[in-house]
Amino acid sequence: MGMSLQDKAEDSAFPARSATWRRHPDILLPLAFVAAHASAIALGGGKAWLLSLLFLVFAPLLATAACFQRARRDAFVEGWIALGAAMLLWAGGMASNLLAGLWLDSWSGAAGFTLLLFILYGVPIIFVLAAPDRESWPVRLIDAALAAILGYLFFRHTFAFATLADTSASNLLALRLMFDIENLFIALFAAIRFLASADPVRRACFRSLTLFAFAYLATAAFINHLYADVYYGSPSDLVIGLPFTLLAGLAIAHHMPGKGVLRTSPAFPHVVQAAAPLMLPATLLMVSASLVRIDPALAIAGCGAAILGYGLRTILVQLRSLDAQSRLERLSRIDALTGLANRRQFDESLRREWDRAARSGNGMALLMIDVDQFKLLNDGLGHPVGDQRLRAVAEALAGCATRGSDLVARYGGEEFAVILPAANLAEAMALAETIRCAVERLDLPSPAPGGRVTVSIGIGHVDRAEGGNAALLIADADAALYRAKRDGRNRSIASAKNSMAD
Ligand code: GH3
Ligand code: MG
Ligand code: MG
Repeated sequence: MGMSLQDKAEDSAFPARSATWRRHPDILLPLAFVAAHASAIALGGGKAWLLSLLFLVFAPLLATAACFQRARRDAFVEGWIALGAAMLLWAGGMASNLLAGLWLDSWSGAAGFTLLLFILYGVPIIFVLAAPDRESWPVRLIDAALAAILGYLFFRHTFAFATLADTSASNLLALRLMFDIENLFIALFAAIRFLASADPVRRACFRSLTLFAFAYLATAAFINHLYADVYYGSPSDLVIGLPFTLLAGLAIAHHMPGKGVLRTSPAFPHVVQAAAPLMLPATLLMVSASLVRIDPALAIAGCGAAILGYGLRTILVQLRSLDAQSRLERLSRIDALTGLANRRQFDESLRREWDRAARSGNGMALLMIDVDQFKLLNDGLGHPVGDQRLRAVAEALAGCATRGSDLVARYGGEEFAVILPAANLAEAMALAETIRCAVERLDLPSPAPGGRVTVSIGIGHVDRAEGGNAALLIADADAALYRAKRDGRNRSIASAKNSMAD
């Protein structure tokens, strides 16, 4: 993000003040807000309750605006959007409180509606807490559906307790307990996500959420249990705005946590990532269970949705992970520069073909191919050109060894190998010559004495793959390659053992 004109102006005109403001809006904003709020209550007289309520609607709206603004310049868009949405729901709850205060007589459902919004505020937060760092959109869609169902069950739950304006004392206590549990749940889980986030951008968001959630947990417990019967307009109201102005300040603040934070074991983030998606269905199951007596059919539907949703998302995640696994497996057997089989695949294939030949009493052959004077080419034309030549040679090799059972591999550096299962010596020698000529015909310029890129080839062969192992074959081919180099390069030679047998 570039600096805005305003940022620049602040930097040059008021360096000291803007620095303090920009470093600590998370402290200054709540302080300024509390001061204004306290003045309003002190000076409000008979209208202190109304003024105080207005401040309490304004605080979460401020947090909403700050979170949405942050979402526009932050990489973790959905995290900040979810926080902003939660703040908006809470502001709605407080606004409905305010309206009920003004016109309670004509709006009998106010108490329940207010409670509902205060509970629903947790749904977007749970949604974002339950989301692993990387997830495909169909999976996110399932999570969103589960979050929506959770919201609906909260709604049914709330209105089962708070029917219209009439909320009995025991029901109120049950509701307050539900608030406490929801708040504690969110705070603890936010802390876990914060500690387990490796990505600094997410970490910053989860850190803000954690600080907010603990402040909110304390505030809600304080108000609900100590000041539940005190109406708005008392100094205890000052506490209610704090979590929201704190979050607004945190959303505005730039600082990124990451340095000097507690080091966790590398497995911890993985466990949290893997377990986080259980949070939504688990909450759904709990809320469904608490609905069993009120609405059994709905409770069963809620449990079903939780299980099906979680199962479906597990299938999707599993599919993706299987895809990724096979892609990685394929990549782990391929040489990145040439696209040929790499050394790992070569070793595996050679062992397998040797065992197969041993079982069936067949022979097999191996070609070791080394580019001539490649050091000169690298030194003269540069490494990138060297790489290009290697790719061209690799392509020529692959074009020559076209039998389905042949395996062409990059053995290492500028050396290649071809495994020829069940090939006799004559076939192997013929293929070696075909390959040598094909590379020569490419006519790739080189500073080597011949003026173009050539290869030397050693041919190892056994009539019967019995006794010992494939290492014999490699040693044979290597010895032959050495002779080809010694005899002047750009030639193919079969191992001495075979030559003598001829
Ligand atoms: P000889 O004819 O005896 O084989 O001579 P040579 O110069 O080819 O022999 P040597 O094995 O000494 O040199 C191999 C060179 O191949 C050295 C190394 O810099 C180069 N090389 C190995 N891997 C790569 C690669 O991936 N890319 C490039 N450009 N060069 C490589
Ligand atoms: Mg070489
Ligand atoms: Mg070499």
